Amino acid sequence: MIKPEDLLRPTREGLYCPPGGFFIDPVRPVDRALVTHGHADHARPGNARVMATRETLDIMALRYGEDFARERQTAKLGETARIGEVEVSFHPAGHVLGSAQIAVEWRGLRIVASGDYKRRADPTCLGFEPVPCDVFITEATFALPVFRHPPTRAEIGKLLTSLKNFPDRAHLVGAYALGKAQRVIRHLRDAGYDQPIFIHGALKKLCDYYQSEGIDLGDLRPATVEGGKKGDFAGAVIVGPPSAFADKWARRFPDPVASFASGWMQVRQRARQRGVELPLIVSDHCDWDELTDTVSELSPQELWVTHGREEALVRWCELRQLRARPLHLVGYEDEAE
Ligand SMILES: [Zn+2]
Repeated sequence: MIKPEDLLRPTREGLYCPPGGFFIDPVRPVDRALVTHGHADHARPGNARVMATRETLDIMALRYGEDFARERQTAKLGETARIGEVEVSFHPAGHVLGSAQIAVEWRGLRIVASGDYKRRADPTCLGFEPVPCDVFITEATFALPVFRHPPTRAEIGKLLTSLKNFPDRAHLVGAYALGKAQRVIRHLRDAGYDQPIFIHGALKKLCDYYQSEGIDLGDLRPATVEGGKKGDFAGAVIVGPPSAFADKWARRFPDPVASFASGWMQVRQRARQRGVELPLIVSDHCDWDELTDTVSELSPQELWVTHGREEALVRWCELRQLRARPLHLVGYEDEAE
């Protein structure tokens, strides 16, 4: 009898597959890496060989330069490839553009490493596809029953209402550069907002990439004030990476409304600490209901729980006689939230 740990096991470098000789989302450089998505804690430079979806490989090249790996292999969604003794296939994860779950199969045992994922609709990427498996590896970023993300449309509505109520104030929206920024912009467009949206320079490359992949973000302009007047941005939406809002860059805008799009905005204290006046609860991760619904739907023989609040979900499984264990992988921060 083979054990799941013979097929995938946590190591210092990340999840390792001995019969395939590869790692999934390694946190240190390795010979062969399979990468679920482009966020910096999952996709790192310096691996000799990288297999990922075309979009994730493109995003890694944009972030790290064309030489981020010696060799690239493109994974086509739903197609099976053989590595060593193992069959691997990639399936949409619904997290950001190009994000994938990775299924590994060996001697009749299938484990799905989902990476980061969410279940609600995201107009900027393919939706999560449930893949039947013996062991499901889930993230646990928001794995507490208190985390229930409200409907995205309502959160975007708060921003539109504020723009109406404060037509003279610039609205600065903090959003992570890969995924969240493009998603917020696309949701604004879907809600009928057709004004130019101004973006911080750090978002340009990825916004251009999304547009080139057919995700229409509308009229985007650089949020630069050189030669202009402060009043130019009155009533405008300006999207930038969260780090930009702490520095001088943010002070150039007229009487700004500080907003931030993140799953963490449900925690009032976090919003207060960051000086966020208009918190928008928009997450690229599952909330508690999405996590437990996914586990119920897949009904694996065993659940492995990683990066986040593992204990509550493990306990939830125990109460339902489902075998579960925390993986305690280190090196994954919720950069993207
Ligand atoms: Zn991520």
